[in-house]
Amino acid sequence: MQLVETIKGKGITDQRVLDAILHLPRHYFMDSAFDKLAYEDRAFPIAEGQTISQPYTVAYQSQLLEVKPYEKILEIGTGSAYQACILAEMGAQVYTIERQKKLFDLNKQFTFLKKYPSIKIFFGDGYEGLPTYSPFDKIVVTAAAPHIPPKLIEQLKPGGKMVIPLGEGKVQRMIRLTKNENNTVTEEIFDNFSFVPMLEGKNNV
Ligand code: SAH
Repeated sequence: MQLVETIKGKGITDQRVLDAILHLPRHYFMDSAFDKLAYEDRAFPIAEGQTISQPYTVAYQSQLLEVKPYEKILEIGTGSAYQACILAEMGAQVYTIERQKKLFDLNKQFTFLKKYPSIKIFFGDGYEGLPTYSPFDKIVVTAAAPHIPPKLIEQLKPGGKMVIPLGEGKVQRMIRLTKNENNTVTEEIFDNFSFVPMLEGKNNV
């Protein structure tokens, strides 16, 4: 509840996002060494030099996505699977891709995820998206993208939205793209954030 208050204080207003944060035990997603810190609004290290995003960042992206129940959402960067579970708590059908084999394998063994049959986890390169399961209502990229991946735009439904942190340096701009019915794309620019980089290809070791 304290975490929800903190996030509210930073400007998150979507009640369904706040409810999802309230219901999800974040300490399940981190090493038990961090148990006492799990409800602080901070990013933490997970395996393979990656991070579980700051709850405010997860809430911010989820709010920009304007998630509706039963929507098909593609997430790039499964990481700890925390963001995927927030989207599932909000009633979405989640397809999530991770390029690090070890993180993918850890999530395959993560028994808590059995609670969310609406989450499907894939090992692959997010730049390719998931053509077989496309088109998607929404796409959320949770790693810093140097450019907008064209295949992800292709895999968005007309009227669909993509939320993506864009930029190559330490700081990225949160962007929301809307694919219009005539296939043009409208861009909205939001706040600055700091993500781990979105890398090309898979890491099989
Ligand atoms: N959504 C995650 C955030 C993890 S950090 C969470 O809630 O915890 C970003 C993740 O994106 C990392 O696990 C990283 O390995 C992954 N990633 C980076 N580039 C990728 C790519 N091209 N395809 C898929 N995943 C990628």
